[in-house]
This record gives sequence, C-alpha cells and structure tokens, in this order.
Amino acid sequence: MLIICGVFGAMILSGFNKTEKEETTHKKKIKSSLFGFDLNQFHFDDYPINSNMFLSDVLVYEGIPFKKIVQIENNSKDIFSTRNFKAGKQFTLVRPDECSSPVCMIYEPDDFSYVQYFFNDRGTIQQVEKSQEVCVETVSGVIEGSLWDAMTSRGLSPALIDKMEDALSSSVDFYHTQKGDKFYLIYEDLYVEGEKVGVGNVIGARYENERGNHFAVYYENDRYQGHYDLEGRPTKNAFLRAPVKYSRISSRFSYSRFHPIKKRRIPHLGTDYAAPKGTPIYSVADGVVEKASYARNNGKYVKIRHDNTYQTQYLHMNGFAKGIKRGTYVKQGQIIGYVGQTGLATGPHVCFRFWKNGKQINHLRENFPPADPLPQDEMSDYFTQRDITVDLLNEIPEPVNMKRSQAAFLAE
Ligand SMILES: [Zn+2]
Repeated sequence: MLIICGVFGAMILSGFNKTEKEETTHKKKIKSSLFGFDLNQFHFDDYPINSNMFLSDVLVYEGIPFKKIVQIENNSKDIFSTRNFKAGKQFTLVRPDECSSPVCMIYEPDDFSYVQYFFNDRGTIQQVEKSQEVCVETVSGVIEGSLWDAMTSRGLSPALIDKMEDALSSSVDFYHTQKGDKFYLIYEDLYVEGEKVGVGNVIGARYENERGNHFAVYYENDRYQGHYDLEGRPTKNAFLRAPVKYSRISSRFSYSRFHPIKKRRIPHLGTDYAAPKGTPIYSVADGVVEKASYARNNGKYVKIRHDNTYQTQYLHMNGFAKGIKRGTYVKQGQIIGYVGQTGLATGPHVCFRFWKNGKQINHLRENFPPADPLPQDEMSDYFTQRDITVDLLNEIPEPVNMKRSQAAFLAE
C-alpha cells in the first residue's frame, strides 16, 4: 500500500495539478498494533539471531512441538524460508500473555515487509507488506563552511546530499562551493509504518551561486526519467565528477609535481582523491572493463573504456568489486573496487586517470559534449511540469544562517 502525504502529495498524485493542491501535514500515527497484533492484548519478545543459533532449539525451549517446527519449516519454503533468517537480524515471538507459548513468530526480511509464521494447526505462513508513505518535504540552506555542514546541520541525510549533487552535477561544481551559496530542495522522505526509512527522489533543486541560479527538475513518464534543466537538457553528466563520494582532492593533475616518494618533480597525470581504506570506488560512466590487474606502481587498478574517445583508470585499489574483470560491462555509479594504498602510495587514495584519444587529460578542465535535450514533442509536457516545480522552488523561504541563529540563541 502506498500513501502519499505532505503539502504536495495530492498535487503529485494528480500529476502536478496545482488546483488540487491540499494543505495536509504528516502526522505520525500512534501505534495500536504490531505485526497485525493488538499491542494491548499480546506480548512480544525479540530474539537476536547469531550464526551458531538453531531456530528449532529456541522453539522447542518455548514449548512448540517438534512436529510443528518441521511443518513450519516445510511450509515456509514457498513464502520465506526459515533457513534464510540472517545472523545479525532478529525474530519476534508473539504470545497472548507473558507465560504462555507463542502463537506466532515474526521475521522482517527487509524494511518493507514482515513474515508471520503461525503455530496453528495448518502452520499458516504469510508475508505482509507494510504500509508505505512518501512525504514531500522542502528545505533551503546557505553554505557557511562546507556543503556537508550546511546539509547535516539541517538534519538532511548523506543520501540526500548525494542525490542533490547528482541532480545538479552538470551545472554545479560541488568541489568548489562558496560561502553564501544557497540551495533549495523539494524531495521525498520514505516512511514505512510511520518510521523514516530513507529518501526518495529529488523532485526539484535550485542552487544559487555567483554564476547564478541552477535548476534541476525531475521529469518522468514511460519513455523518460531523470533531472532536466530549464531548457529540457539532462542535468546529470555523462561522467561523474569523482569516482568516490565525500572525498577530498589530495593532489591535482599537474605536468610538474613534487613526488612525495620519489622526491623529485615528475608529472602527475591524474587526480588523487583521499578517502578511508575500503571506501567504494564507482565507475564514472557506463563502459567495459579493459583491465583489472596489478602493476608495481599502480597497485591493483581498473581501466574502463567508455566509448571511442574516453577511458578512465583507477589506481591503488585495496581490491576489486565482485565480478569486475576484463570484459565486464559496468554502469555509471556501479562499484568497481575499494580504496586502498597498493602500489606506490603514501596513504589510502584513488589516483583517478582520464584518457581522451589515448592521452591523459585533466577531467576537471574537460568540457564534455552536452547531452541531447528532450525531443520537441516532449517539451510542452516537460515545460508544464518545469513551471510548477520552479514556482514551488521559488516559494521555499530563504535559508536561515544556522551559525548566526545559534549565536543569537546563545546570546539571549
Ligand atoms: Zn595520483
């Protein structure tokens, strides 16, 4: 069951029809039941699952006859097998009162559903979808230090930071954010049974910096899906700007750099991104793996061909992701390996190399050919959605300077 709530919920359901906009607020419901059982009538016990635990031992101890346990195990195969219970998770036993044997066992395979195993005559088992809600939220912020600080101080999740950066990646350089830059977002929060489980789409984004206003509008139908600018061009780059997230550039592309290990000036034909060991490394674009191997200086590295013009290379990996080998087809944003310091490296980082027609170039200076806009026959639908989204973005109140407001609060 999918419920959409929030200020813009009604509008989105009706295909952005502004006249049907409803001013409702998201209120967390007070729970009266858990896993379909009345909270006032039943007793719930959680059992953490560890790897050397036998489910049957626990159930026998709880007074369930062995025959019943076998029946439940057999019946569960077609729905969700009790053999697939994972260590680190838990199951719950439900009983009518504290002292009686359980009438039902509950397991949650994921955030979105739970499985009921009834200890009744037939050993009934069913998987129940939890009710889901999508709440549309808006936020604005101003950068005082880093974008990360500006967003996390407003309670926004790293996943949302990622999604905003993605949505605006062709027009905003998030490695060079400036004090005073402002962002305005319309985005979805996902709730399951009243609990926030993650963020959904960025519906609209506006980023204001010294170069002006940059917009990303989410547009979706059966043929197109993604973020577009005011003219209907995709706002996602053909290439990600960096192969790791939340990293910093520790060494830039240069034809003459003092090498920290070799102690002399030699060209550095890559861009180094420092990140903790084990951080995922992403392919910056779709392509085919040409090499996933080891060399003395490069350490473990991957080289990917994207088209006739461009190749990328990722050095000093700790290890490759599963399935990454010569000939593997990879998508943009797919994990290809993990940050390490194999080969000639002073600390964990990725040395990222960008090749154009067989020559290494500075990808941060490269002007990639812009992607094609939406076709003409799509434009009038797109413009309708664009205008509504931009209006809503413009209605978001100006951001408050968090540092200044905290100082004012402390001074009071
Ligand atoms: Zn390097």
